[in-house]
Amino acid sequence: MAEVIDSYGRHLNYVRISVTDRCNFRCSYCMPPEGVQEIDHAEIMRYEEILRLCVVFRELGVRKFRFTGGEPLVRKDIVSFLAELRFQLPDVKIAMTTNGFLLKKYAQQLADVGIDSLNISLDTLDCDKFSSITRVDGLEKVFSGIKASVKSGIKNIKINTVLIKGFNDTEIPELLKFSKKAGVLLRLIEFMPLQDSIWNEKHFISSNEMLRILQGMGEWKLEDSFAFEDGPAKYYCNAKNGDRIGIIAAVSHHFCDSCNRLRVSASGNLRTCLFSPQEFPLRALIRNPDTAKLKNAIFEQIKSKPKCWRDIRTGKSHMSSIGG
Ligand code: SAM
Ligand code: SF4
Repeated sequence: MAEVIDSYGRHLNYVRISVTDRCNFRCSYCMPPEGVQEIDHAEIMRYEEILRLCVVFRELGVRKFRFTGGEPLVRKDIVSFLAELRFQLPDVKIAMTTNGFLLKKYAQQLADVGIDSLNISLDTLDCDKFSSITRVDGLEKVFSGIKASVKSGIKNIKINTVLIKGFNDTEIPELLKFSKKAGVLLRLIEFMPLQDSIWNEKHFISSNEMLRILQGMGEWKLEDSFAFEDGPAKYYCNAKNGDRIGIIAAVSHHFCDSCNRLRVSASGNLRTCLFSPQEFPLRALIRNPDTAKLKNAIFEQIKSKPKCWRDIRTGKSHMSSIGG
């Protein structure tokens, strides 16, 4: 079995694929109010192309695919696509990142096709704040989506919260209570500086500060971090009651040494680092029946995966186009 190993010895076995650049939200940290210029439909990878790409990546040793966007659940026939992928690649992990707005409708279908994990983005429990950050009045729909996913039996469900000073930093206790009651795991994410977002240093909360906030909460006594799964999050346990929380220090503590991921945009561009502006168009090669050519191109691109984003730091892109 082939393996994709980059110039720094990292095994790249996890691919995040954006299935659409469209989104039903307009989160202010992700895109401008009018949205981003939509990619022409003809430019978006067709499902059969994504499937072929996944099969080829699987042959190269990839074990996990995460489908993201834009918002993956706005793409028509997404569940049938996942069912076909599960049928063709029964041994890979299939994950999705969603804003949860359409989950009530799709949760059971996702469970039925055997999705392994679901990340649901939720930054606040307050209706007005939710509408102001996402520019959509949809909190109740996200709540029902979370409920439906838990009920559907999907095992690994997490809530991802981008922590923004002055916006939701005081909500950590409520978010923890909410997640515990819902039966899902909360993860706090450092706010990343990306193009056109409302990011500025005053809004940034580092992972160390998040830990200080947690320690300052009377009922929390933090135990050391522990590994729970592959990925950038560090997980902490509350010694008092066993509660767990994840923290993703995407900005302050880079995890480049152990980065195992590649990204493919909705139009089929391969990106070897989230923060790198460099993309390689795979679409023509995906359409070409010569699999060796496609594999060679992937191997070639992997050579240019940077050692660390701190070395490049010129990349400025909309998160909605790279999928988070
Ligand atoms: N629409 C889906 C969603 O919101 O879950 C999937 C795509 S979205 C780009 C993926 C993740 O990126 C979301 O959890 C979102 O909160 C996160 N994200 C977007 N912009 C971000 C930023 N500037 N800093 C940190 N996380 C960001
Ligand atoms: Fe859409 Fe997700 Fe970006 Fe929000 S974070 S605008 S839901 S893609």
